[in-house]
Amino acid sequence: MLKEVNAHGVSILRISRGPEGAWQVRQDPRNRRITGLTRMELGGPVRGSALVRTRYSPDGTATRGTLNNCAHGVTPWNTYLTAEENWAGYFRNGDQQDQKPNLPREHARYGVATGRSRYGWELAANGADEFVRFDASATGEDPSRDYRNEPNAFGWIVEIDPFNPESVPVKRTALGRFAHEGVVFATAVPGRPVVCYSGDDAQFEYIYKFVSAAAYDPAGASGRLLDEGTLYVAKFNDDGSGEWIALVHGQNGLIAENGFASQAEVLVNTRAAADHVGATKMDRPEWGAVDPVSGEVYFTLTNNTRRTQAQAGGPNPRARNEFGQIVRWRERGGHAGLRFDWDLFIIAGDRATSRGAGGAALGDEGMFACPDGLWFDADGRLWIQTDIGEREQNRGALKPFGNNQMLAADPRTGEVRRFLVGPVGQEITGVVTTPDQRTMFVNVQHPGAVTTKEDFAAGRLASHWPDGGTSLPRSATLVITREDGGKIGT
Ligand code: CA
Ligand code: CA
Ligand code: CA
Repeated sequence: MLKEVNAHGVSILRISRGPEGAWQVRQDPRNRRITGLTRMELGGPVRGSALVRTRYSPDGTATRGTLNNCAHGVTPWNTYLTAEENWAGYFRNGDQQDQKPNLPREHARYGVATGRSRYGWELAANGADEFVRFDASATGEDPSRDYRNEPNAFGWIVEIDPFNPESVPVKRTALGRFAHEGVVFATAVPGRPVVCYSGDDAQFEYIYKFVSAAAYDPAGASGRLLDEGTLYVAKFNDDGSGEWIALVHGQNGLIAENGFASQAEVLVNTRAAADHVGATKMDRPEWGAVDPVSGEVYFTLTNNTRRTQAQAGGPNPRARNEFGQIVRWRERGGHAGLRFDWDLFIIAGDRATSRGAGGAALGDEGMFACPDGLWFDADGRLWIQTDIGEREQNRGALKPFGNNQMLAADPRTGEVRRFLVGPVGQEITGVVTTPDQRTMFVNVQHPGAVTTKEDFAAGRLASHWPDGGTSLPRSATLVITREDGGKIGT
């Protein structure tokens, strides 16, 4: 179990290209592992709240570890933000009333288990504190004697300073608590607030924006900018307009009589607050990206097969949405503004079901399903990565799309072209280039994950990528260069 907990988290590694052209990990005092056990501080309005008091931190200021880290963000001051996505399943809460589960909304609304947790860490035979904390049942006399509040310390954006190996990661609670897919910043402008966007990757969840209270000053900017500000949730109107609704205690009905007695209570229950103000329930918001040329914001909505015909409309136009879409908007009055204008950039699918940016269907060169990773390079090319789940890959309606892939789109012309296709059973996820844009890094996650338990036991693996032969498949990072050494994507 300790091995499993330590296998979660974030690695900081320095890599560089050697004289032969190969990239390698280099020894560096800054290289380190952040795990599911690393001590972390809580920052922002939830710090010190009664909702995060635990046996480990009776004053509610600290916790251990980060879990189920999905995509990321880079702050304007060059620190790394990791996003806690499907953390809820790591916990269980066995509290009952009248023989029925009796969970507080800050557990129930996020899917904390009532039986066993996903990995059963709370069952560790040694009964050590770092394992029993995954049982969030109220067993002690008060919250400082048990871990009823432990799940409330998860679901946050966590700031890590990769350049200071002594620094303690900080959970930035002002950005809200949900299944954060990632976080993306608008270009920071000195003298203006810092603005970032984050999606909650679950069916019928929301897209959020944070606007800092203080203005950006490149000389003194730090993570403290993320501790004070306003969290908004998006409401998309059918007429193509949209609005940002503030999730602020005392505003928009977020008052004690409605169950929101403080800003800490609003933030720990971000989803409930967004429900309360009537935000738009989306088709699983995944990555966001901000166009460096136009300032427009793009978000992938990967799929939502539970949406009914009666629920279809606006930025989520299809019932039983298997293929997903990409929404975009332009903020009125800059990124800190309260209103925006949106449209659908692409409705994904094949020739019969898609609608590309120009209005025509996507052709064979550009058809895709289940957009997930999304990233703008410095020239304004939009890179799209797909995540068709293991159960759907190469089957049924998803069969024509084959393995997961990566494409490049030109937001100005609407042209979309396939860039690469990954091996069987994987998800393409994550992309960045060197500053000169001549080397691109792309992750290939869990190749061969379509292998059944029985086939695995019998040694029949769906993939042997990347080593080939009879090797076990491994997640790996691709390093991509052009034969002529030029910029990728030109
Ligand atoms: Ca996701
Ligand atoms: Ca994803
Ligand atoms: Ca996904």
